[in-house]
Amino acid sequence: MDIFSLKALYRFLLVTTLVAVAAVLSYFYLPERQLSLLPSKVDEYHLFFDAQDGGATNAQWLDENTFQFSCINNGAATNLPYCGISVKIKPPSSQSDFTGFDHIQLSLNYQGANERLRIKMHSYLPPTIASSRREVLKGLDVSFAVQDVNQPIVLNNQIWHQGDEGSFGTKGENLEMDIVLDLVPPFAVGEHILQLQQIVLDGPWISASKWYLAVALCWLLSNLLFFVAFLRKQEKRIRNDSNRLSRLTNYSTNLQQESQHYKLLSSHDPLTNTLNRNGFAEEVMQLFPQGRLKLNTSLIVIDLDNFKAINDKYGHDTGDIVLRESAANMVKNIRVGDRLVRWGGEEFILFCVDTSAQQAQLIAEKIRTSIEKMSINYQQHSIAVTVSLGVGVSSHLEEFDQLFQRTDKALYQAKNMGRNCVVFAE
Ligand code: GH3
Ligand code: MG
Ligand code: MG
Repeated sequence: MDIFSLKALYRFLLVTTLVAVAAVLSYFYLPERQLSLLPSKVDEYHLFFDAQDGGATNAQWLDENTFQFSCINNGAATNLPYCGISVKIKPPSSQSDFTGFDHIQLSLNYQGANERLRIKMHSYLPPTIASSRREVLKGLDVSFAVQDVNQPIVLNNQIWHQGDEGSFGTKGENLEMDIVLDLVPPFAVGEHILQLQQIVLDGPWISASKWYLAVALCWLLSNLLFFVAFLRKQEKRIRNDSNRLSRLTNYSTNLQQESQHYKLLSSHDPLTNTLNRNGFAEEVMQLFPQGRLKLNTSLIVIDLDNFKAINDKYGHDTGDIVLRESAANMVKNIRVGDRLVRWGGEEFILFCVDTSAQQAQLIAEKIRTSIEKMSINYQQHSIAVTVSLGVGVSSHLEEFDQLFQRTDKALYQAKNMGRNCVVFAE
């Protein structure tokens, strides 16, 4: 199959379009990118508790490697109890902030008697950024009943307050995220064991708009490339076709020329270039389809005198030259529309339509004198030629053969009268 046919072009367009539509729809089934934050992305962490400010809650590490700690409330009432862990997380190495993620999975562990726990997440601008020395910028603040905590908690980015749309956190240079897990007042008296087991961010590898743009570009580019290849192939094909056409045209012109040449050969005598009998018969057929001549159709029969002697004396080739020169001389002395025919050997006829006997005799005389004056130079010899002529004019509806016989008799008389003369056939 020709892969650059028009059909193939349509097929390619259809297939790429189907693939593009499938690629657009497949966006929702693409695998998600996951980023595990603990412990690899932890920049710094610490426990905080109100005993430091004169409160009743104390905190201590149980296992620092797995972020497990305990808060112990000794029962004394305080105004603002607090106890928890704060972890600062670095953005992934491939980007400078947490944008691009749309879900967060938290795996927590809690043992104790408190009713609620809380998770706070905030973008964190390090104090080195001069424009703002505030630590807390934008984020979320969610509390959970403790019975919900011992299974993974999934939060989507829509509850992230004031965040850039579709992502966690804020766009910025090296923005860290501050994650806090703490107890929600009122604190139950006694020990609370808390653990930040895992934090995983989920998000697409590529945003929907980028994916659609990539699909559209691939679709456009592949079709463009195919189309360009298709056009080039078509251009080459057209060039080949036009070459072939011009070769065929040449061939056909040659054939026409050849055919004209053969047609000329079939109707003309090659030596003298005058009509031959065949060509003349066709002309008479066209002029007089019924085979009957109209009045005033003149015939002049011309025969070279003593031509055999010229042949004998100068050779056959010279004889040919004499024949050709004599014919050329006769052509010079006839009118347009008169037909000069080599009737055979050294005998010619001149057929003149609408020519009276008087006009025909004048023409015959003109030919005779012209030939007589002609001299043919051959190898230092000057060959003199004369002709004898019979002139006849048709009667109404006379047949050509009858006119010819009469005129030929007149020629015979001219020969008998000593040649080089014109005799009119009565
Ligand atoms: P006349 O005056 O009575 O016509 O005498 P002639 O010699 O012309 O006539 P004849 O019929 O005796 O001879 C004609 C010669 O013309 C004989 C023949 O060899 C020659 N001939 C005929 N056709 C050709 C030709 O094509 N080329 C040459 N060179 N000679 C030709
Ligand atoms: Mg002769
Ligand atoms: Mg003859």
